[in-house]
Amino acid sequence: MKTNFHTHTYRCLHAIGTERDYVEEAVNKGLEELGFSDHAPFPDKDYGLRMKYEELEDYINEIDNLKKEYENKLRIFKGLEIEYHPCYTEYYTTLLKKFKFDYLALGEHTYTTKSGFFRNIFFAESTDDYVDYACGISEALSTGFFTFVAHPDLMFLNDFAWDKNCDKACDLILCAAEKHNIPLEYNANGLRRGINHYPDGVRHPYPDDRFWKLVSGSKIRVLIGSDCHTPEQLRDEFVIRAEDKCAELKLNMIETVF
Ligand SMILES: [Zn+2]
Ligand SMILES: [Zn+2]
Repeated sequence: MKTNFHTHTYRCLHAIGTERDYVEEAVNKGLEELGFSDHAPFPDKDYGLRMKYEELEDYINEIDNLKKEYENKLRIFKGLEIEYHPCYTEYYTTLLKKFKFDYLALGEHTYTTKSGFFRNIFFAESTDDYVDYACGISEALSTGFFTFVAHPDLMFLNDFAWDKNCDKACDLILCAAEKHNIPLEYNANGLRRGINHYPDGVRHPYPDDRFWKLVSGSKIRVLIGSDCHTPEQLRDEFVIRAEDKCAELKLNMIETVF
């Protein structure tokens, strides 16, 4: 079964294509399930690279309408990719209960450290930050708000060599995923970013083989996310490559989270 639960739209301001464009692409490419997971806004503050809060209602209505219109051709799910900050607990509840989102994908770009500081993983100062980042993911998974973890190894896009903090961070993420039985996403968009030079070798920024080899030895379920920012990327060569990589790594693959 072909599926994708990591789909963006023009609303996040760094992707193109309407919800309908992605639905039509999904039907044309023979997908059976399509989950929208555009970058979620927060009600009180614009953290950038995401839809405006004022767009949220339209996003919801458009997906609800498409669900009905395409019900015989495609199962559509209404989701968001969103960061976990403990101060927004009420908001996550509102999204799930009042706005009836089918799922929230935990997509940690920013995170809150244990001491309450707000950080962005794209600008880690050292691998110490990876441990804080992983603690954030671990805490998020204990809340029950999140259906899967988008790009759980995103931290490795930083320019640092592997060290014991990396082991510790991986361990925290894997333990939390295992404990709460939450799938991890193997992200095709990291493959789209190409091969780069790092202090410890030449590799994709993410997914990082070293992380996924650890997952491979566990019972954790894994799904592939296209993380498409154009309709053509919905099921492109990088998604196929991700499938090959996951097979090679002998990961415990799932096709759906429903
Ligand atoms: Zn994005
Ligand atoms: Zn994404």
